[in-house]
Amino acid sequence: MIKIKSCFELRVSLCDSCKYKQFKSVDDLLNMGYDEKAITPLPKYCVQGEWSYHLDTVATLAAEYKQQRGEKAKQVWWEEQERFWNDRMEHGLACRSARKLEHEKYEARRYEMLEKIREERVKRMNEKLTELGWEKEAERYLKTEPYKYVYKEKPLTDDEWAVIMPELTALMEIEREKLRKEEIGEHIKRRIDKWLKPAFTAFILSRPPNEINPNILEVALSDQWRTVLCTEPFSEDLTESSVQSAGSQIPEFAQSWRKDRIGQLLELVRKSKTYSGQEVTEDVLHLACTMFRCTNCKCGGPGEVNTYAHTLVHSCNFLWMYSPIVQVAPRDAKHLPPPELPDDGYSARKRPIIRLYREEERHILTTLEHVGIWVGLDPHIVFDDVAHEHMLSLLDTLGWSCDTTVAEMEERQPYVECFCECYHDPKKPLSRKIYRWKKAVSIII
Ligand SMILES: [Zn+2]
Ligand SMILES: [Zn+2]
Ligand SMILES: [Zn+2]
Repeated sequence: MIKIKSCFELRVSLCDSCKYKQFKSVDDLLNMGYDEKAITPLPKYCVQGEWSYHLDTVATLAAEYKQQRGEKAKQVWWEEQERFWNDRMEHGLACRSARKLEHEKYEARRYEMLEKIREERVKRMNEKLTELGWEKEAERYLKTEPYKYVYKEKPLTDDEWAVIMPELTALMEIEREKLRKEEIGEHIKRRIDKWLKPAFTAFILSRPPNEINPNILEVALSDQWRTVLCTEPFSEDLTESSVQSAGSQIPEFAQSWRKDRIGQLLELVRKSKTYSGQEVTEDVLHLACTMFRCTNCKCGGPGEVNTYAHTLVHSCNFLWMYSPIVQVAPRDAKHLPPPELPDDGYSARKRPIIRLYREEERHILTTLEHVGIWVGLDPHIVFDDVAHEHMLSLLDTLGWSCDTTVAEMEERQPYVECFCECYHDPKKPLSRKIYRWKKAVSIII
């Protein structure tokens, strides 16, 4: 009889041809002339979907079985065999889970030990670098647990330290530079909070309501504020007078900002069918019959038309400052460096390109990264000739002048019931509905 010496149950992975040679199904074994009694006490294995038994062991058992004399002896032998093999299987199972447990314990102990070593290494490197004058830098660097220096299986020795010290010193230089930049960033953020925000708020509150004005980021990037925020020595706070001088220039900056945007919009009006070949001044923008439409988006509902003020603040004209494409070069640089595309998977088409004059100005962008920035009048915005015609006939119906302004319409708020075929599908029964004036011009089908 084959004795399994080891306390482990024997499990062997065999190649297919060996497997079929060494394991046979009950049917095969019976066909080979073996007695069922010599087969059934044995552990069975699934080979190709059929319960199979180890051929050599079956042969040994069959020989033993044959030697038993008398039914009773045969029965005793059979029961003994069954017990024996059952015990073997149970023992094997217990061994396997004990081994697994042992292994898990070992892994946990090892992990604990490695963690201790890592902590110890970080502590020693920190001490040594601090002795060399890199206290803040070492703290910042080692917090990230740099794999190369921390994840070792042995504590840090003096020999190893001699080898890695020059590398770490070079890394500390880099950390020092990063810390310096971070500090500057903190200064700039504090300046924005303490000086720019109140100045900007004061400016907005001083203006008439509904006037188009630059946002805080655009003001921060105006020449005066860039200079004040990023070039005054960081060792001291800004002076009242330098802030006041930058603050007093916001209205002028806002005016030229407005003029530039209005100029872009007037260009659109001049290109329209309605005004082609005519002299167009800013007054036209304030007329109720001057309507624009963004053909790119459905903001405000399908076919929404907008007056000029809404068109200028329309969201398609803005991009969020998050992760912009940056170009840094002094103002008088002859050649611009190639734009730096941040490495973060967002489409370059959806990023604003920002020209900076100094590295420090990046901190303005990070501080105000949730503010949108104007990227030019969206090319999908058009002067709406059809809405213009409708507005004129609406004014005509009301018996009002065709020079009626948006402000007057807003004040008088006429409600409009539309009968013109442009508002009704001729196949459907007429529905009587009234609209606000702008809506009435927007919903032409
Ligand atoms: Zn084989
Ligand atoms: Zn749009
Ligand atoms: Zn119509």
